[in-house]
Amino acid sequence: MKKKRCSVCGFRFVPTKEATYAANEPQTVSEALKKSATVYTMMDCPKCGCQQALSIRFPRIPTPVSAAEAFKGVTAAFKGLNSALHVSDEETTKERGEG
Ligand SMILES: [Zn+2]
Repeated sequence: MKKKRCSVCGFRFVPTKEATYAANEPQTVSEALKKSATVYTMMDCPKCGCQQALSIRFPRIPTPVSAAEAFKGVTAAFKGLNSALHVSDEETTKERGEG
């Protein structure tokens, strides 16, 4: 990975996934009404501790594929719950038909 140079003390460090975090740009209320805050990937300098902005982050939007995958997960969890409670899928369907 590319080394970053601290703009405060000049220390050169390698950014790691574990050490980086996301931070919002500070905004006043009137600024927040006009546009959303820019999100940055930040890392504190290992030597002096000053914040260093590594890159701009864009908000992630869930894709229809990942939403379908999430629903599959919920369905699987529900089936798992049913079997844990010793209720078969057939019984559940019958109860729903009567109601
Ligand atoms: Zn530094």
